[in-house]
Amino acid sequence: MTGSLTIAGLGPGDEALITPEVSAALARATDIVGYAPYVARVQPRDGLTLHPSDNRVELQRAGEALRLASEGRDVVVVSSGDPGVFAMASAVFEALEDAPEWRDLPIRVLPGVTAMLAAAAACGAPLGHDFCAINLSDNLKPWPVIEKRLRLAAEADFAIAMYNPRSASRPDGFGRVLEILREAGCGERIVVFARAVSTPEQRIEMVELREARPEMADMRTLVIVGNSATRRVGRWVYAPRQVR
Ligand code: SAH
Repeated sequence: MTGSLTIAGLGPGDEALITPEVSAALARATDIVGYAPYVARVQPRDGLTLHPSDNRVELQRAGEALRLASEGRDVVVVSSGDPGVFAMASAVFEALEDAPEWRDLPIRVLPGVTAMLAAAAACGAPLGHDFCAINLSDNLKPWPVIEKRLRLAAEADFAIAMYNPRSASRPDGFGRVLEILREAGCGERIVVFARAVSTPEQRIEMVELREARPEMADMRTLVIVGNSATRRVGRWVYAPRQVR
């Protein structure tokens, strides 16, 4: 019996933003594997086993998903947003490196609406010109790498989408991030704090970077720093199509 492994993105929160392809995979799954809050977004039903786990056990979770698939189960590993953006798809391929016996399993990665795209749409078009995305958590990379990338992104005048800006275990890093961007001359750039986008708790705040405070972000916030040409029109913010 051949099982399958699907790595799927559930989008930023609203059910309407789950793609039909992901809904179909969830409907035929026998097992759902993932971080507990994401697994909780999947409707329980007969014949479906849920495997919620802690946030810090990504590789172990990926290995478990591969093992279940090798035993003939139709497994869906769920992430929020897109599974390839700071999420489980990389962990599955990393686990596969150590497990040649599973490389012939049918594996699919199904895209989802990542937080930065939902956040950008909620406030206008701040990613309409060149941009980059950075994960501000130093759980999986050294802090100096984050600082270096921020400085270079500022110098290159990218709009910058920031994931995982601030958590209870990392309360101070984001203040430092704002400081680095001020030092890099970005004080007048527009910053968008997009919290819980596409959920009933959605809140969008826009300020100039020099007025931004660390408390404006938490783990449910996606932060977008505009480029030097980004501007506001009414309640919207956008990056002009042309940069001179
Ligand atoms: N794979 C996910 C990202 C996981 S990292 C994706 O593609 O979106 C988790 C971070 O994503 C959070 O700390 C936050 O910065 C951002 N995020 C996820 N959902 C969000 C939402 N609904 N609103 C704002 N930010 C969100």
